[in-house]
Amino acid sequence: MQIGGLQKLTLIDFPGKISCTVFCLGCNFRCCYCYNPELVLPEKIKKQPRIPEKDFFDFLKERKKILEGVCIGGGEPTINEDLPNFAWKIKTMGYSVKLDTNGSKPEMLKKIIDRNLVDYVAMDIKAPLEKYSEVVNRKIEIKDIEESVEFLKQGKVDCEFRTTMVPGLVEEKDVIKIARWLGPIPKYNLQNFRAGKTIDPKFEKVKPYSEEYITKIYEKIHSLLS
Ligand code: SF4
Repeated sequence: MQIGGLQKLTLIDFPGKISCTVFCLGCNFRCCYCYNPELVLPEKIKKQPRIPEKDFFDFLKERKKILEGVCIGGGEPTINEDLPNFAWKIKTMGYSVKLDTNGSKPEMLKKIIDRNLVDYVAMDIKAPLEKYSEVVNRKIEIKDIEESVEFLKQGKVDCEFRTTMVPGLVEEKDVIKIARWLGPIPKYNLQNFRAGKTIDPKFEKVKPYSEEYITKIYEKIHSLLS
């Protein structure tokens, strides 16, 4: 696994677990608002320092008394063929594993869930179905996204879906369509877009929605999700 970053402690990313987050390099999407271009764009990945797997596992050994879980994020972890082996090594050390995914690789998702290599999955829902390719900036097989959603909805593993709201790109009407598509689901989060360094420089200065507005939208769609 090519590791491009490690957050040594997080109390919010893995529900109920004191965790760390490991960031895998590479992604098959190019979401305009992505704030991790150094984990996504090949020309930036080249310059990104790597963390050797051995160092990561040594870190996990040292933190055994403090940490309970490991979040595997990115980039997009499921594009790596060695993800099952990587997750297995983490699990055999006694850690719970959470996967953050864009849901574009349903076969890999099924593989790691069916082999009990993951305890929690957070899948990004980028846009309503008809707008997906525009938002992720790639021509994608939308049936793969649908397949991942349907598989997660079977409830074989704890999961959540989440959408980033981006002014001018993913707005209220889009979130309503997403809620109609997904519902009923156990857990759905709306996230706010972060300005700053983004894959598409046009988004660097876009002003995020207020937290109050996001909460209002969430209240509006709540009944569609339950
Ligand atoms: S936000 Fe989009 S481009 Fe960035 S890592 Fe996630 S899926 Fe990939």
